[in-house]
Amino acid sequence: MTRCTRRALIRGAALVPLAATAADQMLRSADRYFASHGSYDHHTVSYDLRLAYDPSSGMLDGRARIRAVADRPLRRVELDLARLTVHTARVDGVGVHVRQRQHKLFLTTPRLLAAGTPFTVEVGYGGRPEPVHTPFGSIGWDRTGDEHNGTLVAAQPLGAPSWFPCNDRPDDKAEFTFRVTVPDGHHALANGTLRERRGNGSTECWTYHHPGPMSPYLAAVYTGRFSHDSWQARDSATGRIVTGRNSYPTSLAEQARYDLARQPQMLGAFTGWFGPYPFESYGAVVVDAELDEPVENQTLSVFGSNHIDGARGWETLVAHELAHQWFGNSVSLRDWRDIWLNEGFATYCEWLWSEHIGEDTADMIAREEWGYLEGNAQDLRIADPGERRIFDDRIYTRGACALHALRLTMGDDRFFAMMRAWHDEHRGASAGTAAFLAHAERYAPRTAEPLLRAWLYEKTLPSLPHARPESEEA
Ligand SMILES: [Zn+2]
Repeated sequence: MTRCTRRALIRGAALVPLAATAADQMLRSADRYFASHGSYDHHTVSYDLRLAYDPSSGMLDGRARIRAVADRPLRRVELDLARLTVHTARVDGVGVHVRQRQHKLFLTTPRLLAAGTPFTVEVGYGGRPEPVHTPFGSIGWDRTGDEHNGTLVAAQPLGAPSWFPCNDRPDDKAEFTFRVTVPDGHHALANGTLRERRGNGSTECWTYHHPGPMSPYLAAVYTGRFSHDSWQARDSATGRIVTGRNSYPTSLAEQARYDLARQPQMLGAFTGWFGPYPFESYGAVVVDAELDEPVENQTLSVFGSNHIDGARGWETLVAHELAHQWFGNSVSLRDWRDIWLNEGFATYCEWLWSEHIGEDTADMIAREEWGYLEGNAQDLRIADPGERRIFDDRIYTRGACALHALRLTMGDDRFFAMMRAWHDEHRGASAGTAAFLAHAERYAPRTAEPLLRAWLYEKTLPSLPHARPESEEA
């Protein structure tokens, strides 16, 4: 089994000591995972990205207009941008000095910005974007094998600066507008809703808008040529009809249509379990490239050509990426140390889907995975694995087993009520593990918190509770 963005299994990294209850407190920069990414000096309101891409040269010409608010008195604004060169920079319309060092931009503000002051940054930049080298492989903007020189974005966790200047924190979420110009005959896809296509003969500009809010690492643009199909699903929680759109290389159309065909049923099931679908639309993009893992880009998950076989051999991942729209995208991480809140939840949704369609029950899968976990090293704290081990297999499976243990303990009614309320209370925001423990405790007082603490903060693997008869169906 493989799962999204688990690009490498890296062992032996030092654990970062952290008291369990500290995880939700304001993280000092030194305590954060990947502290060189992102800034706590400001937060972002919106990104407006104008991108012109030339597939023959691979050159990107970009203009980013970023609206933000100072969170402390600012004399300079710090942004993340990798490998691309800035040629103009303005703050509140005034040309400013910009210093570019490694993957950082520092813009001197024309005046002191007091805490709470809204401001606007405009950055003109360009070059040939490349993925960022990270402990998890090369991540971010990349080219596909499409004969038309297509591109994709798979940026989790650190690849967003490969294509636009941003505050690269998972908890700095904003509204996005994309205006992507490509040669006539090419397609441009991006998160959210297509607002306009405007051609001028040789090129065409595709405008998308996504109110989000969305973390930078979940933003994505795909270019090239695609076939498309549309679908509709009924949101079981609200009765709303959610529109979906899949895109794939024409050569894979038949297989992709079959492999992705049960997304409407998935959406129906998930909205029944977890509450309303959080965004305006959904879709899956299959790119003409092999990917290590699919990625749950917001409203528009990306799959590699290797994840399409015409036999639903990877359907668990189709369910996994859709589940992330609730858990990971709508409810975001406070910090990457809490990655199990994304991956444990999405993995458990794979098991629920299996149970729902009459295949192995979640309980059967949990007990099998528990056996693997028992046979492996127990040297990882799921809720604080160390930054190089955020995609360790055990984050996925032990995290999912922790949720299953909670379900067995609470019973289905309270468990799914707890999951729905977790999404409802943190929708569009960010949360950490300590908040989840406190939340679960409300549904099973004096039980949930110690249970989760053993699963998430101790290295030794706890036992799974005995199965309850009523837990056999979701
Ligand atoms: Zn995932």
